[in-house]
Amino acid sequence: MQEYVTDAIVLSVHSRGETDRLIGCFAKQLGRIEARMIGGRKPLSKLSPHCTPGGLVTIRLVEKNQLTLIDALQIPPSRLPTPAALRAIMLVRALAPKGVPDGRLWETLKRSLNEEEKNTEALFRILGYDVTAASCEACGDTPVSLFSVPHHEFFCDRCGARLPEHEVVYC
Ligand SMILES: [Zn+2]
Repeated sequence: MQEYVTDAIVLSVHSRGETDRLIGCFAKQLGRIEARMIGGRKPLSKLSPHCTPGGLVTIRLVEKNQLTLIDALQIPPSRLPTPAALRAIMLVRALAPKGVPDGRLWETLKRSLNEEEKNTEALFRILGYDVTAASCEACGDTPVSLFSVPHHEFFCDRCGARLPEHEVVYC
């Protein structure tokens, strides 16, 4: 049984079964991972309050067939993620390969939690997409202004207006 201690940024938290949760993270040492939080849905869960999307945490995990979260501690300051941070989280959740550590992605994502500054273009570049060279998937126009997360495609202002707001990230 392997044990890991790493800093991580929480990307998602989902219910799993009656009492557990499944937490998605981008971990400094492990890349994008998913781990089971046993008892995470119980009202007295010690881990759950530390694990909210956009949170920076130190986590302890054990691996035996799958990853299980056994400890989590939020790294201060804890604050609500800004809209820019939520966009960054959405991109990493959708585009980062699973289990591939990436120091540059880690630093860029971490910065986006603390700054109002828009670094979407840098994130896209690290994730393998060149926003400046992209053209609209529907009409071929440039420049593009948004990215459809479920489809992994760029669109111009006009064509992108039809897409559901919660599925897009503005470039
Ligand atoms: Zn278009």
